[in-house]
Amino acid sequence: MKTLATLAGLMLSAALLCAQANRPNSALVQELVLANHILANEGVVDAYGHVSVRDPANPQHFLLASHMAAGTVTAADIVEYDLDSNPVRPNAPTGYTERFIHGEIYRARPDVTAIVHCHAPDLIPFGVTGIALRPVYHMGAFLGEGVPVFEIRDAGGVTDMLIRNSALGRALAQTLGDKPAALMRGHGAVVVASSLHVVVGRAYYMNLNARLQLQALQVGAPITYLEPEEARKAAPQDGYERSWALWKHQAEAKP
Ligand code: MN
Repeated sequence: MKTLATLAGLMLSAALLCAQANRPNSALVQELVLANHILANEGVVDAYGHVSVRDPANPQHFLLASHMAAGTVTAADIVEYDLDSNPVRPNAPTGYTERFIHGEIYRARPDVTAIVHCHAPDLIPFGVTGIALRPVYHMGAFLGEGVPVFEIRDAGGVTDMLIRNSALGRALAQTLGDKPAALMRGHGAVVVASSLHVVVGRAYYMNLNARLQLQALQVGAPITYLEPEEARKAAPQDGYERSWALWKHQAEAKP
């Protein structure tokens, strides 16, 4: 009996060691979990929408939660994917239908280290009206680089609107080009950056800029947008670190 218990204990330790050896960079996983919680907390994503980060140890891989709401993600839910958006390890939990957004943008954009996909409601009007999303205030300055609109009908005809394969992911990456964000007609947006902090900041302020631009449009008077040179000068230099610190504080204060 005692031998059996010892054996079971040994097997459990071995399994735990294997699991740890298989886990990606744990500090990065913690940051990704926090990014999920911040985006949910700040209303950028709801039950849908996701955030990923490229693995610095292997740029051909990225980390993304499995199929669940961002606000409920824990470290155990983070899955490592290759650029074909297939999980690296066998028996990975079911992934997001639209994980191909991430794989194909990482493939097309070596400069991109983090990606957010969201359905933030204030962004939707700009994908369906032909009115361009433009910086109306300094916090939206990065939008001055231009925000292209992805038309899924051009890439896939009449679909269910989701990026459910690599071909659609490639088409979206092509529309994004070298820009920091793209709108997806009748669906949402993708936002990219060179770090998790910056991508979360961009996603948050893109949403807020959209809300303010809608309010300005409703006034009906001509709108003075940031000039391209103003937008370049106003683009944050610090990676939204003060915002990140606040959002982290708020996310961690939640029970
Ligand atoms: Mn979506």
